[in-house]
Amino acid sequence: MSPLDARYLRRKLLEAQHEQTPVALFGGAFVSACAGGYYWWLTEQTFYIYWMLAVALVILSRLALFLSFSAWRRGASEKAVDSAIWRRLHALGFTAAALTWSTISLYVEYSLPFADAALIYVCLAGMVAGSVVSTASVSPRMFLVFASIALLPLALVLLISFEPQKIAMGLVCLGFFVFSLRAIYRIADIFEGFVASGVVNEQLLRELRQEQRQVLKLNEQLREDIEIRARTEQQLRVEKQRAESLAEKLYELSSIDGLTEIPNRRYFDEHFAEEWSRALRVQSVLSLIICDIDYFKNFNDRYGHLMGDDCLKAVARTLDLHARRAGDTVTRFGGEEFAIILPGIGLQDACMLAEQMREAVMALGISHGDSPVSKQVTISMGVACTIPRKDSRPAELLRHADEALYRAKHQGRNQVVSAGAV
Ligand code: GH3
Ligand code: MG
Ligand code: MG
Repeated sequence: MSPLDARYLRRKLLEAQHEQTPVALFGGAFVSACAGGYYWWLTEQTFYIYWMLAVALVILSRLALFLSFSAWRRGASEKAVDSAIWRRLHALGFTAAALTWSTISLYVEYSLPFADAALIYVCLAGMVAGSVVSTASVSPRMFLVFASIALLPLALVLLISFEPQKIAMGLVCLGFFVFSLRAIYRIADIFEGFVASGVVNEQLLRELRQEQRQVLKLNEQLREDIEIRARTEQQLRVEKQRAESLAEKLYELSSIDGLTEIPNRRYFDEHFAEEWSRALRVQSVLSLIICDIDYFKNFNDRYGHLMGDDCLKAVARTLDLHARRAGDTVTRFGGEEFAIILPGIGLQDACMLAEQMREAVMALGISHGDSPVSKQVTISMGVACTIPRKDSRPAELLRHADEALYRAKHQGRNQVVSAGAV
């Protein structure tokens, strides 16, 4: 037990003793009144007036002490205040009470015959026995003080009186004193152990409560952390989604040709490789058309680059409109060239589609005053088709389509030339 707890234990004992005070005071007042009243009629009355006044003063002082202690107890913090002063004041009250009893017993003993004095022995025995129960069980030393003052002088006087009756009474008093003293230490031990275990329990309870408070605090912190984490995760999710959609947009932007708004060369390279792999996997046909505007340099020279741009857009739109099937992709291959990827389309169908595109471009009716082959803008197209093999490469199909286009140019432009199945 820590020094603080030992002090606390002393205070608890004092409080237990304090709780007995009203009964002790009441008992003391009652017995005093009886004894005073009894002897009033037998001897000198002046003594009893002073004695009763002294008794009343002691009882009232102890009552005042009791009330002050009650008030202090309510105000004092549980452990911090030392209760030594109160213990001393209590001891003083006991001593005073013991002195009043010692006085009357000696006075009666000297002034009255044995038979009349007998009552005071009974009263003293009762007071000492009462003090065992009421107070001394908490503090054996206090009992020792009380009983020594109240009982021993009388016992001594009785023993040296050399009258057999009185000696016997003196021995009884001594015996009573000794046996009470022995009993009191045992009772005090038991009582102190009982209160001490209460104090230890209280301490355990306090520690438990403190731990509980800490656990609750930790719990609260944990909950806050979880909330913050959930909020952060939510924010991260939102940021991630935003970043993903931005990346998607960026990718789209980087894959779309700014002028014609159809996929650009970058997209062609990726998509063509993908379609090639797919066709290789499922062993299906893959066709490619390369398309070039005839005499476009002349067109630019004659009508200017802005008109040239418009022409490019119109041609791109027309080609895109004809590549309707899912999977058909028209891309701007570079300059005034376009590449059309046609997955799952055989050479014949690819040539037919190319022919339709060529006619559609012509049908746009964009004037071209400086074209040796037509009055309108025309296109030349090279078509190639293959079922990819493990040992073949996408670049080969591209080369074949390009060669076909080259032939179309050389054979007079404004036409579709097939590279044949490769
Ligand atoms: P060919 O029939 O042999 O294809 O002759 P061509 O004049 O069409 O071929 P050439 O390669 O000599 O010229 C291509 C021209 O395309 C040159 C260039 O100014 C033009 N061109 C390329 N990109 C653009 C563009 O984005 N806008 C415009 N207005 N012109 C472009
Ligand atoms: Mg060209
Ligand atoms: Mg050209």
